[in-house]
Amino acid sequence: MKHLWRLFVISFLVVLFLANDAVSQNQGNNNRTNTHEEKLKIIDVHTHGFVSSDWKKAGVVGVVAMPGVDDVIDPYKEKYDKDTRVITCLGLEYSNKNEIKLTELRSRLATKKYGCIKIFLGYIELYAYDEKYKEVYQLAAKYDLPVVFHTGDTQSSSAKLKYADPLTIDEVAVDHPGVAFVIAHCGNPWYQTAAEVAYKNKNVFLECSALLTGDVNQPNPKIIGQTNEEREEQVKLLMVEPIKWVFNYVEDYRKVMFGSDFGEDIISNIDSYVQAYKKAIPPKHHKAVFSENAVCVYNFKKFDIFKEVDCSDFWKKFMPWRLKKS
Ligand SMILES: [Zn+2]
Repeated sequence: MKHLWRLFVISFLVVLFLANDAVSQNQGNNNRTNTHEEKLKIIDVHTHGFVSSDWKKAGVVGVVAMPGVDDVIDPYKEKYDKDTRVITCLGLEYSNKNEIKLTELRSRLATKKYGCIKIFLGYIELYAYDEKYKEVYQLAAKYDLPVVFHTGDTQSSSAKLKYADPLTIDEVAVDHPGVAFVIAHCGNPWYQTAAEVAYKNKNVFLECSALLTGDVNQPNPKIIGQTNEEREEQVKLLMVEPIKWVFNYVEDYRKVMFGSDFGEDIISNIDSYVQAYKKAIPPKHHKAVFSENAVCVYNFKKFDIFKEVDCSDFWKKFMPWRLKKS
């Protein structure tokens, strides 16, 4: 009896000790995630205006404002919240599907208000390496502006996919080593090609926006009868796994940026897209992928909250022309 009593007391103490340990470990984890979340100032490099409170809740404090296909010049800047840091991308106008308009581009770039140039491959029926684009790349070099390409699936069925294949960007990247190029949508669904082009060319970067549309936490109403479980499987297969694959393939955590394509009925819940994107990237690289890589590719250092970001190694490795200038 005496022994039994002793055994009982010892077991009780052991249980108490273990429980206490679990609680403190848990608190440690929570503290770690909280401070990590606080520090993460998310930049969304692919947006179409309409900042909502959801957006702020998700921690997005800086954006690249993209023009739309039908409204290539105006990137909805006036629709952004006053305290969001906005870099504006100028869309390249086109007519007759294979004629681009350069006059407006030249004069607008001279105002130096823009932070990048967007080219709608697929909607414009010209390959990225077409001679007609040569002056665009020369202007991009002159003003040191990244060129962002729409790649992969097009929203419009009248656009032509062969022009939107990310493989065509390889030739441009080789021929214009003094320009940074961004492959939007990670070439979706040709993300392996997009990753290879970024892996092989120093001056090419990726953003995996709009791999899925709608609220990625909810069944997609456009897919009749989709259940929650089916949606989860879809998010895993078509978003998390591809981004994870791309991130691992390029072998450099500085090559991938966060982009959503928020607005225009494409991405309706920004936080759901952020959370799914995070699952694809190891936490130790969140700061680079969700913030600092974008600071260095686009000119976010001009904003106070990003001015401390050190881009010297980044520029030395990928954009050496920028070091020479500053
Ligand atoms: Zn877009």
